[in-house]
Amino acid sequence: MTKSKQKGGLGFQDFESFNDAFLAKLSWRLHHNPSGLLSRVLMGKYCGDTPFLQVEHRAAESHGWKGILIGRDLMLSNAGWAIGNGEYVNIWTNLGLATPPKYDLWVQHHSSTPNGQATIQQVLPHEEERILILKPSKTGAPDKLIWLGTCSGIYTTKTGYHKALELVETAATPAATAAIDWEKGIWNLQTASKIKLFLWKIFQRALPVGELLAVRNIGTTQNCTRCDTVESINHLFFHCEFARKVWRLALFSTCFDSRGLLDLATEWQHLCTLKCLPPVGVATGPLAPWILWSLWLARNNRIFNNKDATPEEVITKATAAAHEWLQEQKADDKPKTNPPRQSLPYPNSTILHSDAAWRGDLHLAGLGWTIDEEGQTSSFMSHCHYVNSPLVAEGLALCEALSCCIAKGLRRILCKSDSLRLIRALHDEAPVSEIYGIVADILNLSLAFDFVSFAWTQRSENKAADALARQAL
Ligand SMILES: [Zn+2]
Repeated sequence: MTKSKQKGGLGFQDFESFNDAFLAKLSWRLHHNPSGLLSRVLMGKYCGDTPFLQVEHRAAESHGWKGILIGRDLMLSNAGWAIGNGEYVNIWTNLGLATPPKYDLWVQHHSSTPNGQATIQQVLPHEEERILILKPSKTGAPDKLIWLGTCSGIYTTKTGYHKALELVETAATPAATAAIDWEKGIWNLQTASKIKLFLWKIFQRALPVGELLAVRNIGTTQNCTRCDTVESINHLFFHCEFARKVWRLALFSTCFDSRGLLDLATEWQHLCTLKCLPPVGVATGPLAPWILWSLWLARNNRIFNNKDATPEEVITKATAAAHEWLQEQKADDKPKTNPPRQSLPYPNSTILHSDAAWRGDLHLAGLGWTIDEEGQTSSFMSHCHYVNSPLVAEGLALCEALSCCIAKGLRRILCKSDSLRLIRALHDEAPVSEIYGIVADILNLSLAFDFVSFAWTQRSENKAADALARQAL
């Protein structure tokens, strides 16, 4: 959370964020009830003919109105448009404003119309492919400003507050993500590829910790189950008393107090160079990534399986896994190809096949995928615990595979899966609540590509991925 909070108590930033969140609530009401008394008074006085969402800040304006505009900007910082008939989005463009502040399109129960498509072609041609994957309203519903922080699309002060804090954090640490050197900090680390993907998720803020879930309003767990503080990445992995004990047990040769860690991205490199004293010491490769991984597994085991681990068990598991991985590396004659690598622009689309294998008694899923680019096929696999059904497993396989493609810098992807239910859910033809979060993740990840499509394929066409998934299991 914010730095002010780490020093104890509520800081100025928290109050300010909370205040902004309330102001955003007010703006939300003004926008959605333009005929209300307050709206009419304020709009008449301050907006003239300009729509509320487009009114600019002026030097001489009342304190109250200034506040409302601050709230409005907060609201717009995390708002998107549900495209109905395309009219409102059209207005933005016609007014010469190029594009709305953020036109991430959020589609819930819509499918495409010829009208909607034509509008998109006119208004946002460069986004056409991306938008057509999403489905606008069939019934010509008006475009609607929606809040991206809740699944209902309705603004709440709570989610607004989280967003405001996030903005404060980003402003306070402008290099939050820039500071991480992806090559050095993740992909070149001497560690397992599953750990690299896991780290990548942490730094992309894609790991579903309570704080991020709360912002997206998915799931119910929002606070740390051990101490009831907001479960942020920093809290879960460093500041929680439980995490502190784990780090202390690591017996690093230089003293490391995880409470002192303020910005993971800037301190990550240092963390990876920490050497452990024997007998814990890992001969080569950093231990820190494995500690994070082990803490994450322990957290999930506690939440989903009601199983608790001691700090001793967590650190033992981390070191054992690190050692095991090192042994595997030595056993292999030839070095493994380093899977997720950085960017090269590929002119043509890459074909991604993903598949999953599942064991119900263990709630375990094996994930496998192949990436065909320019005639070369590379294979990947991974596994995942706490998986409740084959469908969830299929979703996770595709999700991991897409993360891998992003990491490889691929831009145009054709995804093939033999799970018809998954593909239909992705196309919003038949949503399945069980995989709501995974589908949302897949769609979020797909925004990273220039082009992405999801297609069903026969099992017989998906044999390589299937074999990998079984092997992973
Ligand atoms: Zn805690």
